[in-house]
Amino acid sequence: MKTDARPDTIVIALGGNAFQTKGDKGTAEEYWRNAYTAADLIVRLVEEKYGVVVTHGNGPQVGIIAEWMSLGLKNKNIPPMPLDVAGAMSQGWLGYMLQQALYNKLAEKKLLGSLVKGVVTVITQTLVDRNDPAFKDPTKYIGPWYEKDEAEKLSKELGWVFKPDPRGGYRRVVASPDPIGQVEIDAIKTLVEQGFIVIADGGGGIPVYRGDDGLLHGVEAVIDKDLGAERMASALEADVLLILTDVEKAYLNYGTPNAKPLDVLRVSEALKYYREGHFKPGSMGPKILAGVRFVQNGGKMAVIAHLKQAYDALKGNAGTRIIPD
Ligand code: ADP
Ligand code: MG
Repeated sequence: MKTDARPDTIVIALGGNAFQTKGDKGTAEEYWRNAYTAADLIVRLVEEKYGVVVTHGNGPQVGIIAEWMSLGLKNKNIPPMPLDVAGAMSQGWLGYMLQQALYNKLAEKKLLGSLVKGVVTVITQTLVDRNDPAFKDPTKYIGPWYEKDEAEKLSKELGWVFKPDPRGGYRRVVASPDPIGQVEIDAIKTLVEQGFIVIADGGGGIPVYRGDDGLLHGVEAVIDKDLGAERMASALEADVLLILTDVEKAYLNYGTPNAKPLDVLRVSEALKYYREGHFKPGSMGPKILAGVRFVQNGGKMAVIAHLKQAYDALKGNAGTRIIPD
């Protein structure tokens, strides 16, 4: 039990399936439907009197924004914006939808103004190291999938880098530097303490570095949202980091006949399996790493679970829990 009067705080990291599920075309209607489903699950946790901070991925959306801009460039000679600005747009896009869905769900249940003061999205800048080796080796998949010839054409036209995606086809890849911390963390903390539900650090945060002039500058990259969520959860001294995705648990030997679901992982076991390569880079890998770092930094528990099992996962009855040694 905690000794201070502050309610338990949880940081919820929403995966791509919170906005776009399998088979979706990506219409606004589908985004709204998915946002309301996620909001419903989040409100159940709010009703348990947790302080809630929500973050979300933006891989598909930041890539889609870049595509929209590249089409505008071709058709009307409208200059495109760089990737950090696209990241900010994705925070506004998804933040807005989730913010309205949460507001309406809370209003329906008459929880607004009583249990919760309001819902607010914070455009969040996340510091990275300008010399992070990740800038030399782009690994983060963004945007839609292409056939090889289309990818080659776009690569020539726009200078984008493409790699084959393990799920098939080709996808644009960009640098994904390790997050150091959120510039707006004090604002986020104050809002949670004051009783607001905060949506922050979308897409892992807009990557920025501090220049020799001491000032902030955006960089062309996309941070991993799970690693960004860990930085935020640790800085907030959150009690639980809840990573919600489209699988029920992390598995050993994932995708093989010997696949074994994991219920609980001590930090040292998680690291051992991580080093053995059980958790794929760019998907389950960063979730495990985020969970390990969170617990190493003093968090009680990180849970990786299916979005639909958010409530049970928080209560320790679903998902894969990462706990101290
Ligand atoms: P999100 O948008 O939620 O971050 P990701 O696609 O990045 O989703 O990560 C979830 C995916 O990780 C799962 O759909 C699964 O295909 C993949 N994955 C890779 N390794 C594992 C593993 N060891 N156990 C479970 N899932 C894994
Ligand atoms: Mg992911």
